[in-house]
Amino acid sequence: MSRQIALVGIGKIARDQHIPAIEADPEWSLAATVSRHASVDGVENHRTLDALLAARPDIDTISLAIPAQPRFDYARLAIEAGRHVMLEKPPGVSMAECQNLEVLARRRGVSLYATWHARHAEGIAEARDWLATRTVKRLQIHWKEDVRMWHPGQEWVWEPGGLGVFDPGINALSIMTGILPVPVHLTEATLHVPANRQTPIAASLCFHHPDGAEVQAEFDWRQSGDPLWEIMIETDDDSLDLSFGAASMDIEYRRLYRHMAQLVGDATVDMDLSPLTHVADAFMLGRRISTEPFFF
Ligand code: NAP
Repeated sequence: MSRQIALVGIGKIARDQHIPAIEADPEWSLAATVSRHASVDGVENHRTLDALLAARPDIDTISLAIPAQPRFDYARLAIEAGRHVMLEKPPGVSMAECQNLEVLARRRGVSLYATWHARHAEGIAEARDWLATRTVKRLQIHWKEDVRMWHPGQEWVWEPGGLGVFDPGINALSIMTGILPVPVHLTEATLHVPANRQTPIAASLCFHHPDGAEVQAEFDWRQSGDPLWEIMIETDDDSLDLSFGAASMDIEYRRLYRHMAQLVGDATVDMDLSPLTHVADAFMLGRRISTEPFFF
């Protein structure tokens, strides 16, 4: 029999990916939604998470597809009600709130999953295996897209905790941390922040690699036309260019729900915070440059 799951936040990513991925997986059944403004045809909706938790004790898993700023309060409520919780990326707006959620989940004995959809793109597992036997000399990330195309009217990305260009950039960092055999740490960052906004529209990052490899990232939301999402890696004997596209997201989200089913089955937690650590470090160490105001 399939597991009952509720989806919270019926916005862009819920409609583009979560609903199709749940519907495609026989292990899950979309039993309800929580939305303040929307609904899904044929699916029971509750206006608040409290109302859902009270009305549907049979739903044991809650997937949060809301922006990161309100996510802690929703996740805490669900965990305290004994439900398993799946978090969209980034898992929260601070390291401490994510760590505290993990403590709460372990205490309550429920599964908690900080998802990183980009890690499930085609070619990532192969890249990790390929790198395991080589010495990296250089890793360069280019993650550039048009914010008006990919975040139309989304004011939350410009608010504290909304991450700005790190909202897509953290996808690249999740791939980097997923494939590199050794951990790197951020040493320098430059953040270009529009004069009327709280979060960066572009960022350059440099990392220290324990073997001296050059590791850099360029994120930019001022790209026009097609996005450029690529990671170029040079090693001691060969090079690898990884490039990504939106088409790959269907398989990524199906894999996230497969993994969540395993976590719930095994009653385990998967909270890798390494991508968010680099973002937090960039906000802590970054040199800020004020740029022209941004309007949608
Ligand atoms: P969105 O469409 O702007 O918002 C999603 C939904 O969250 C909204 O429709 C709203 O749902 C709810 N919501 C918004 N603000 C809220 C608040 N303050 N309190 C409670 N609920 C609130 O955003 P999205 O693009 O789907 O992104 C959601 C998350 O998914 C983000 O963390 C983002 O990084 C991640 N993500 C997005 C994409 C993408 O392509 N857009 C891709 C991968 C991951 P209701 O009106 O139904 O209540």
